Order: sequence, then C-alpha cells, then structure tokens
Amino acid sequence: MQNLQRTPRQPVDAGVKIQVEAEAMQKLWLWTDFARGEVSCLGLVDEVVSTDTGRTTALIVTDFFLVKQDCTSDETDMDVADVARLISELEAKGIDSRKLRCWAHSHATMSVFWSGQDESCISGLANAEWLLSLVVNKRRDTQMRLDQFHPSHMYIPDVVWEVKYPLVDGLAEACFDEFKAKVHEGTFMPRTRDVVSGRDRLWNELDHARERGALTMDDLDDELNWLGIERDDFEPY
Ligand SMILES: [Zn+2]
Repeated sequence: MQNLQRTPRQPVDAGVKIQVEAEAMQKLWLWTDFARGEVSCLGLVDEVVSTDTGRTTALIVTDFFLVKQDCTSDETDMDVADVARLISELEAKGIDSRKLRCWAHSHATMSVFWSGQDESCISGLANAEWLLSLVVNKRRDTQMRLDQFHPSHMYIPDVVWEVKYPLVDGLAEACFDEFKAKVHEGTFMPRTRDVVSGRDRLWNELDHARERGALTMDDLDDELNWLGIERDDFEPY
C-alpha cells in the first residue's frame, strides 16, 4: 500500500482561537479555482474580547473582498487605488475599515509557504497592531500566519486555525443523541489538552442549547453525568 502522507507540519496554538467563516472560505476557494495563477483578497476580522478578562479570545475572519489586481503564475499585486476604494466603501457602510486585517492569497498549484514577496507584502500591510495572513493553493493546502507589529515585529508562521461553520439549530443535540445511542467508549480518555478542549467545546454547545431552551438544567446535568464531566470543571469563556 502506498503511503501518501506528506511531511506533517506542526501549527502552533497562538493562545487565541482563529477562525474563518465558512462562506468567506468558500469565496476564497472559488477565486483560487477560477485563477490560473495567484490571486489575493482582503478579509474583515472580528476581534472577540472577553468581557470578564478584557482579553482577546478569538479572531474571526467574517468576509473576503476581491480588489483589482495584476496576477501571474507566481505574483499577485493588489491595486492600491482599488484598496482605497474598498476602504471608503466599507466606511460608507459603517464598517470600521481597520477591521481589514487579513490578507489571503493563493499559490495556485505551488505549495504553501511564505515567500520573500509575501514577506514584503505583509510588511506593506503593517499596522500598529496585528495582521492575519492566509496562503492556500488549489490542492486545498493552507497555512495561516499571525504577525504582531507592536512593540516589535514578530510572527508565528504557522498557527492553528479552523473554519467556522454556521450554527445549525438542533444539530449539536441530534449528533449528541445519535453518538450517545451508537458509540460505546471504554474507560481510557487521557486528560490531554485536546480532550479537555474537545470537552470544553462540547460543554459550550450544551450550554448554548440550554440557553436556547433546547435543554433544561436537569437535561444538561444528565448529559454531563453521562459524559462523566463535573460542571464546576468548566469556566465559561
Ligand atoms: Zn505567496
């Protein structure tokens, strides 16, 4: 049997959740597929700040915008005047253009990495705070990067990120019920970070279901009991 695995990368957890909304990602994939070579776009990023701690908990790319650009098989050059047009159109709609903090581009059929040109593009987009950059290719490889410009320029070239899927009413509950009915898990569950964060996520979904009125407090306690989770183990975000 062939081993088709490529060299695994090890993206770094930046300590903040980084997500791209599914529809925005779909736009990027469409432009990537339409382009014969490279193509660039700019993304709006929502910064989610915890009201309790004042700390940023998530950076969510909510939309991508295409601007006029000149592209070849290995270059993409956005038209500065058209970027200015995008900024004034966003401002006219009441959208803070400082939220344009993601630069995404495709390497077409080439692998994903940060080239010298990419470095200068990122330096050109530098602001006083931070910037996300996403490089993709037609094979659906992706690499997300987080640059910080203050107090000095530092970056993580390969950060953990995920697609944010829209919330489908009732889906989490239905999947949970089906899982509970069909999957028997033995007692192993090492308390690794992944397991804990997976359970954190599950807890959040159950808690949201409760907030929406889909689960009573008793139902929630039943589910948690069944999972062997103490409610006190979890701190809401
Ligand atoms: Zn590039």
